[in-house]
Amino acid sequence: MKKHLILTILTTLMLFATGASSVMAADTGKLITNQCRQNLKMLNEVMKKHVEKNNELLPPWANYATVKGSMLSFDDLPQDPVAPTPDCKYNLISNSRDDFQWYCTLHGVLEGEKTITFQYHEHRIMAKTTNRYMSNQRYKDHNSDLLRWTEYAPTPVERFKYHYNMNPLSTILLLSGALVVLVIVYRSL
Ligand SMILES: [Zn+2]
Repeated sequence: MKKHLILTILTTLMLFATGASSVMAADTGKLITNQCRQNLKMLNEVMKKHVEKNNELLPPWANYATVKGSMLSFDDLPQDPVAPTPDCKYNLISNSRDDFQWYCTLHGVLEGEKTITFQYHEHRIMAKTTNRYMSNQRYKDHNSDLLRWTEYAPTPVERFKYHYNMNPLSTILLLSGALVVLVIVYRSL
């Protein structure tokens, strides 16, 4: 009787999970990373246009608000980039008028020789860093802060959300398995 009940519950969960996995699987980290990299790409392009039109020197480091207030005209940038996370803050970094990039405090630069992946809450995201601006202390400090994300320990809930988003089916099956084991252990006490 008990076995029958457990089997019924498991079958129901499996059917639910099969349906859910095809519809709901989502690599949220990848979506966030792509959105931020699109922002960096757009900012780099706008900056390139701006440099071509003006002779002014670029600051070695400046945040988005400063750059927008002093350099970017409304025509260049019809709307502010929408940050995909509260930690995506944009800064301009430059060695010269020919060597500049926008930098996100969470995703790094668009073009960097080093790729890192880390857990950001329930998302697994990718960032790029580069050594070419290391002589700039502000960049160096921000880079160290960014690397600290690799030590981030997600909470159990964040971990569960991540696994569920990536693979609803196996997550639900694992959870069901754990529940069955718990029931069996509880019954045998
Ligand atoms: Zn970002």
